Amino acid sequence: MSKNKTTLVRRELGLVQMRQMNVTSKKLTVEQEFQYLVVLDFESTCWEGKWNAPEQEIIEFPAVLLNLQSGEVISEFQQYVMPMEQPVLSPFCTSLTGITQEQVDAGVPLGTSIYLFSKWLQSLCEQHKLSFCAAVPGNRATFATWSDWDLEICLQRECTRKRIRKPEFFNQWADVKLLYKKFYQRKPKGLAGALQDLGLTFQGREHSGISDARNTATLISRMSPRLK
Ligand code: AMP
Ligand code: MG
Ligand code: MG
Repeated sequence: MSKNKTTLVRRELGLVQMRQMNVTSKKLTVEQEFQYLVVLDFESTCWEGKWNAPEQEIIEFPAVLLNLQSGEVISEFQQYVMPMEQPVLSPFCTSLTGITQEQVDAGVPLGTSIYLFSKWLQSLCEQHKLSFCAAVPGNRATFATWSDWDLEICLQRECTRKRIRKPEFFNQWADVKLLYKKFYQRKPKGLAGALQDLGLTFQGREHSGISDARNTATLISRMSPRLK
């Protein structure tokens, strides 16, 4: 990897989509440097041949904390979530994600999952002095997801529909798919394809949220210039 390109991607990681609660159509681009990323990848209810159905509900809520300096994942969160509106998973959904009916039946409602996730994040913020806001001193952190779907569409839509309060910190993220496209000037064939293009193999199970989050973190580490 050339130095120019690796330096570029470091800068590009500062391209963060900011979604304003009251200005839904406006995306701001800000230049920032980050020390930590919370890499997140939701799985939701789904049906064969139906992409991005408006009635989707989150069924797996996983995230990993990536230290960009070391390239290490230093903490993980995973919670299965019980769908309330359509509680029975389609056979397609279980086969795609590997998530079983028993796992979601034993899961928690989305609001509880957001609460548990917030507690996990809060303790990491204290431990590693993370700051999600430029005005607050500390180690700069933001979210990272493969595409905008997780935070712009999936979580936003379900929280609005169910009138669940969505914490402010979910309104800022880096779209790793977009960064990949800009960096390598090519359209990847999914997350596994993006890794494969770099000579890496997807570890674990594709479309398992926790595996997707870990592999997205691996991809970011590879793209980040201070590493490798
Ligand atoms: P992913 O992170 O790629 O596993 O996808 C997140 C969610 O998008 C999944 O949990 C599904 O709800 C939905 N999804 C992904 N692939 C498909 C597909 N081929 N057909 C329908 N829904 C899908
Ligand atoms: Mg995903
Ligand atoms: Mg996934």
